[in-house]
Amino acid sequence: MRYAVISDIHANLEALLAVLGDAQPQAEAFVCLGDIVGYNANPNECVRFVQDLCDVTIAGNHDQAAIGSRRDDDFNSHARTAIAWTRQQLTPASLAYLRCLPTTATFGRGGMAAHGSPRDTDEYLVHRRSIQQSFAYLQDTFPDVRCCFVGHTHVPMIWQCTPQGVVSLLQGVFSHPVLLDRSRRYLINPGSVGQPRHGDPAASYLLFDDEALTVAFRFVPYDVAMTQEKIYDALLPVALAERLEVGR
Ligand code: ZN
Repeated sequence: MRYAVISDIHANLEALLAVLGDAQPQAEAFVCLGDIVGYNANPNECVRFVQDLCDVTIAGNHDQAAIGSRRDDDFNSHARTAIAWTRQQLTPASLAYLRCLPTTATFGRGGMAAHGSPRDTDEYLVHRRSIQQSFAYLQDTFPDVRCCFVGHTHVPMIWQCTPQGVVSLLQGVFSHPVLLDRSRRYLINPGSVGQPRHGDPAASYLLFDDEALTVAFRFVPYDVAMTQEKIYDALLPVALAERLEVGR
């Protein structure tokens, strides 16, 4: 089965629609790694698209903060402002949907969806130590999972667990599909649809084939100016609009 794995949409409708346009002809199923809302100005529209389209969806830390099941003290001030605004916007239907999301889910042959790390929605997998701990946790708790997909950092990445330690594959170079090794375990980040931080404004996601065991990163341009306009109209922090055009 060919899955489109999307993450960190953050209420950016233009980016989500561009990604869906690119992915729908290529994917048989959709997996969403959470943070559907926060930062941008179309939370309800994005919740509705995810609800209608995605076969597997989990909650991110911004979704949890928006429905009040997680405190937002550790958010920076722009993120907190956006969460307060989002809370006022969410319809009862959106709230009901977000409240039902699990924090992790397994899918297909050896696939798993998580937001920050397999053991913690709010853990940033940046340092080698936390990545090693995540692989150890997977091995102990989900021995059948070969590919655990995570979001949260908004930066596309593949880590492979080898007997010699953790190896980062193709950091920053994602121009062709990657063939995975069946005997290894992976942590894979598709990057962010709605607030990319890989140094390019294009929305990012990936295609995962759980039979051929390939991962292909996709970078999709969208109408950034339109998303920025909506941020200004909603009186959300201007910095949230500015960062979209540099992808940082
Ligand atoms: Zn996020």
